Amino acid sequence: QPSMASEKEAALAAVPSHSHTIFDKIINKEIPSNVVYEDDEVLAFRDIDPQAPTHILIIPKVKDGLIGLSKAEERHCEILGRLLYTAKLVAKQEGLEQGFRIVINDGPNGGQSVYHLHIHLLGGRQMNWPPG
Ligand code: C5P
Repeated sequence: QPSMASEKEAALAAVPSHSHTIFDKIINKEIPSNVVYEDDEVLAFRDIDPQAPTHILIIPKVKDGLIGLSKAEERHCEILGRLLYTAKLVAKQEGLEQGFRIVINDGPNGGQSVYHLHIHLLGGRQMNWPPG
């Protein structure tokens, strides 16, 4: 979160939980966000703290236990595919013909700070490897 000194600190402070997160408020339009794509199952909106010229989060509207990829079950296969395909659609919509990067942070070591599965779509600049 922006109030945290760093994303890493936010990740270390975050407690994995099945309860509601800030993303539920974004889905329910209780707090404003810059939505770039929406359908019945998926929402995509601009990250509040962009790490690249294009930085979009793609999330399932219904969490259904998917607090992170490490909690995925067989029943989630369809929504997981839908999220990844949406990332491709949004990358095209954003004009990322030169390429892009998909990131899923999981758990404290992965730098996850919000426990509602989300795919980061990053683009508009040259990405580095290894990531930080
Ligand atoms: O992978 P991680 O859990 O760290 O990603 C959470 C992301 O959600 C961060 O990139 C953060 O900037 C973003 N965020 C947001 N709007 C909020 C809270 C967090 O875009 N209100």
